[in-house]
Amino acid sequence: MPLVLYNTLSRTKEPFQPLHPDLVRMYVCGPTVYGDSHLGHAKSYISFDVIVRYLRFLGYRVLYVQNITDVGHLTDDADEGEDKLVKQSRIDRMHPMQLADMYTRSYYDDMDALNVVRPDIAPRASGHITEQITLIETLLSRDLAYEANGSVYFDVPHYAAYGKLSRRTLDEMNAGTRVEVKSEKRHPADFALWKRAEPGHIMRWPSPWGEGFPGWHIECSAMSMKYLGESFDIHGGGLENQFPHHECEIAQSEGATGRPFVKYWLHNNMVTVDGKKMGKSLGNFITLKDAFARWTPGVVRFFILQSHYRSTLDFSAEALEGAAKGLGKLVNTMRNVQQAAAANTTGTPSGIDLEKHHQAFLTAMNDDFNSPLAIAGLFDLSREVNQALGRGTPLAQEELNAIETFFATHAGEVLGLGIGTGRELSTSQSIDPELLSLFISLRADLRREKLWGLSDKIRDGLLALGIVLEDKKEGTAWKRVSAGQ
Ligand SMILES: [Zn+2]
Repeated sequence: MPLVLYNTLSRTKEPFQPLHPDLVRMYVCGPTVYGDSHLGHAKSYISFDVIVRYLRFLGYRVLYVQNITDVGHLTDDADEGEDKLVKQSRIDRMHPMQLADMYTRSYYDDMDALNVVRPDIAPRASGHITEQITLIETLLSRDLAYEANGSVYFDVPHYAAYGKLSRRTLDEMNAGTRVEVKSEKRHPADFALWKRAEPGHIMRWPSPWGEGFPGWHIECSAMSMKYLGESFDIHGGGLENQFPHHECEIAQSEGATGRPFVKYWLHNNMVTVDGKKMGKSLGNFITLKDAFARWTPGVVRFFILQSHYRSTLDFSAEALEGAAKGLGKLVNTMRNVQQAAAANTTGTPSGIDLEKHHQAFLTAMNDDFNSPLAIAGLFDLSREVNQALGRGTPLAQEELNAIETFFATHAGEVLGLGIGTGRELSTSQSIDPELLSLFISLRADLRREKLWGLSDKIRDGLLALGIVLEDKKEGTAWKRVSAGQ
């Protein structure tokens, strides 16, 4: 079966045919850099990372653009409220661009740890003000926008296709909009392309309409089309951005060019906690830095890939521990194979059909990037390999090498789990939490007996394995130290 992907635009799975036969042009909405990334971000960017990796595995050249939002994203995600960066920078007493730089670095640190491949181009909104102004001028000249008191708004009722992605009618949109008494907008569904800067507003640029700053949606239209062309293949993002953000992107881009903007719209679902969305504004989020203190980035990545990108994923410590065990099994199999390969030069064939496993992997991934099914196939292979190794008849080195290569490409490279690629995400920190509890309680006994030398030996030994013990009143807690600390 050739690759099919679920296109939000048609609400169906469609065969994948890029606009150019061997080049895939892809854009994903990047983070708004005003805080540390959380598990919800990890789900989104790991999902699209695997999509990019898989397309490259299939032989496509992929040009992957992911922006950094550092201006214009207001606190209510629409046209009201304060700029998220300006607000946070006031709390943290720094310049908004200092804040943006700090959290951009923090974002890439987290993504690097998760083995997320960096985008080929990572444009910043504040670096593309000229392009955004030009696009707004085009929309004005096409009578799809209007100026009001130094701000510019998109004229939604003048654009017939508005609502085609989210499938909302103008009446439905009205019903969800607050009635603003003193609004400059002609219609409640109109959205800001450019906002007038009030006195004292730090983030401001000159424009034909006076000093101001761009609306949030216009940056993605301007920057995606600058680097990928007026029409490109894949646009990805979180499901929560389908409306209004992506709907507005389509209106701006297609309104300005008169051409189809994006062929395939892909949306990842969210991470939930006790069934509720995880989000910064909801106060129930777990930052990646906190998650990494408890679980390795490899385990977090594996946890995310064990559910489909379009499914919700419920966070719990038990689920993460389960993922740690699952990943540990694959890592152990790999280690068994490597040890056997180091010991033997001759042997008999095991009967494992790697081609069958390869086809199963392709079938899973070709069905809208079904990573949980692909992982289930890897577990099947892992079981067969361990059974073969346990039989007592040695396997030929050649076969062991082929199995190793299979794990390294499919699990290591395509799913990005690092296994066998020399970029192990898991092995150095794969310590069983139950075993760790046993060491901690042993150490507590030794300390009660005042056997300080032995208790220190346990502490230092665990530190060498990347585990720090912290003695507190209520007992001893542990956390992992990440590499480089
Ligand atoms: Zn965007």
